[in-house]
Amino acid sequence: MRRKIVAGNWKMNLSLAEGYQLAESVKSETKVIKPAGTDIVLCTPFIHLKGVSDIVQDSGIATGAQNCSNEKSGAFTGEISASMIKSAGARWVIIGHSERRSLFAETDNLVLRKTSAAIESGLRVIFCCGEVLAERERNDHFRVVKRQLDEGLLGLQVSDFSKTVIAYEPVWAIGTGVTASPIQAQEMHGYIRSLVQEAYGTTVARETLILYGGSCKASNAAEIFSMPDVDGGLIGGASLNSAEFAGIIRAAEL
Ligand code: PEP
Repeated sequence: MRRKIVAGNWKMNLSLAEGYQLAESVKSETKVIKPAGTDIVLCTPFIHLKGVSDIVQDSGIATGAQNCSNEKSGAFTGEISASMIKSAGARWVIIGHSERRSLFAETDNLVLRKTSAAIESGLRVIFCCGEVLAERERNDHFRVVKRQLDEGLLGLQVSDFSKTVIAYEPVWAIGTGVTASPIQAQEMHGYIRSLVQEAYGTTVARETLILYGGSCKASNAAEIFSMPDVDGGLIGGASLNSAEFAGIIRAAEL
């Protein structure tokens, strides 16, 4: 039986004090829930990372960044390297989020280079993929997700691939209040698992975690997480409210 992951993506939200307060609240809620089969990750803005990592230390909650540079170090003004993220106490990084792909022109190739840089520095990667609405409407969603995976992830050596989890995030569901139906999510997650199987074999495919992301909240998480190939969620808006986020963790534990 695979473990589940519930990862919060705080995006560009919260002052330092608000972020620390939220981390404290999530820690308290988690102490009450005592999740047995679910790992929790808080992906914070860079400046919150060290403080939040300190707050959740020894609580079983891990931290992550939302992006990293593909470069190791040097004259790249404004960039943050994977090893810097690791040195702040984080274990994870989100790579290839649709907002990075669309707003910051990240290509599949750049996503691959960032993924490789993160793994080389000892981070685990939440690799995001997903189609936009127009692609789904013209029935192109499987092809788009296959391309993102083939070009951004599935070329890795198996030892590197095993440091990643995949988040299927249909772009039309992110921040819109519209979720994929459990059937739509399962259909894509099953397809993704079949692609992993083709690339790395049955055992690796069985062990790979595939998260769902897109307007997931406490009221709809249980239904989506009950699908056989859905192994938890990447949570944006609902991760900014500790009670809502706790409800999603409870749903993962069902
Ligand atoms: C996300 O940005 O990864 C996400 C899933 O956002 P939301 O939950 O707000 O749709």
